[in-house]
Amino acid sequence: MARIETPRRVRGTQDIFGDDQRRFAYVLATFERVRHLYCFGRVDLPVFEATEVFARSIGETTDVVSKEMYSFPDRGGDSLTLRPEFTAGIARAFLTEGWQQYAPLKITTSGAVFRYERPQKGRYRQFHQIDAEILGAAEPAADVELLVMADQLLRELGIADGVTLQLNTLGDAETREAWRAGLVAHFEAHRGELSEDSLTRLDKNPMRILDSKDPRDRPIADAAPDIDAYLTPEARAFFDAVTAGLDAAGVAWTRNARLVRGLDYYRHTAFEFVTDRLGAQGTVLAGGRYDGLVESLGGAPTPGVGWAAGVERLAMLLDEPAAPTIDAVVVPMGAAAEARALGLVAELRRAGVAVDMAYKGKMKQRLAKADALGARHALIIGDDELAAGVATVKTLASGDQRQVAFAALAEALR
Ligand code: ATP
Ligand code: MG
Repeated sequence: MARIETPRRVRGTQDIFGDDQRRFAYVLATFERVRHLYCFGRVDLPVFEATEVFARSIGETTDVVSKEMYSFPDRGGDSLTLRPEFTAGIARAFLTEGWQQYAPLKITTSGAVFRYERPQKGRYRQFHQIDAEILGAAEPAADVELLVMADQLLRELGIADGVTLQLNTLGDAETREAWRAGLVAHFEAHRGELSEDSLTRLDKNPMRILDSKDPRDRPIADAAPDIDAYLTPEARAFFDAVTAGLDAAGVAWTRNARLVRGLDYYRHTAFEFVTDRLGAQGTVLAGGRYDGLVESLGGAPTPGVGWAAGVERLAMLLDEPAAPTIDAVVVPMGAAAEARALGLVAELRRAGVAVDMAYKGKMKQRLAKADALGARHALIIGDDELAAGVATVKTLASGDQRQVAFAALAEALR
């Protein structure tokens, strides 16, 4: 008979298991705690949206839309796209679900996102983000709140020390226009030296050349004019308010005048939390203000600001997670004890005790299994114990043993 081939895991996807899973869960649990401290709500969104949700709000000229989206016609012929990020879907929901009534809306979400990229360490095709947004707040205080929240998240994960907040402003619409003209003049003068990708960007979205990773572009991008000379007084005041807020909250930051976000709708604040511990995948958390986004989806002008972080990249920075522990493992010896143990395990679990059962092999193997499961106690039940209605409770770390009546076990173990 022909051997049946096992299907492969799809390139760029992950099966997150063991220590990796514990790190992953720790990031999500910490995010959940911090979002509560900052009084953000939570929403869970569809994994796919109409393609135009992303195409219109992220912008056709970005890498995400032009190269990285998983788009497909569904059976009805509609073009759908697996979400490559959360902000566009949240803005769509804000409009279609009438969430304007909650503005300013402080909201978080998390889950899988999808981008067709070249997989490598810290870069996947299905990865996971945590995401925080404030919709309907034009004040720099909203930017500050999100940045302080991101900083606290990194602190609570214990990774803040190796991570730097890089901050920039992209100004208001007037500033952006003037800066754009300055950039075009500069890049036009160096047309011959730019990469092919950047020549396309020069026509469509010249700001993005600043963001290029191509070594041919770097010297030209680095020599481009900063936004500072183009800032309107309003845009300057906004940026000053954000940096003053960060200073007041004790959040360290550095200016990176080359920092532009890939997405077209960004205004004013743009930021990235970066580390040199992850090689080329050094950005762990990134975001900014996107005052033009909701309008691009047909809504009334609505300011917004937010960030997203890669769960895998945060998880990679964490210390070795503590091995999992459970309260006890029941070790029944003999058929009668095994029968009683089934009921006992159910009772203990209902009483809130984390307990497993070891029912294979000799006593020694069963105790080894209890150890491997990270149990604090083994509950040994043989014929003598059964007759007396007790378990021998062995504390695995010390080897101490004592007898505890079945009825008193839950209390003794919790
Ligand atoms: P990069 O420059 O690394 O491609 P990006 O600018 O495309 O990042 P964002 O769109 O800002 O990333 O997404 C926010 C965060 O999501 C990133 O800072 C990063 O931590 C994470 N991220 C982005 N793409 C991937 C990916 N393919 N795999 C794993 N994490 C990712
Ligand atoms: Mg990217």
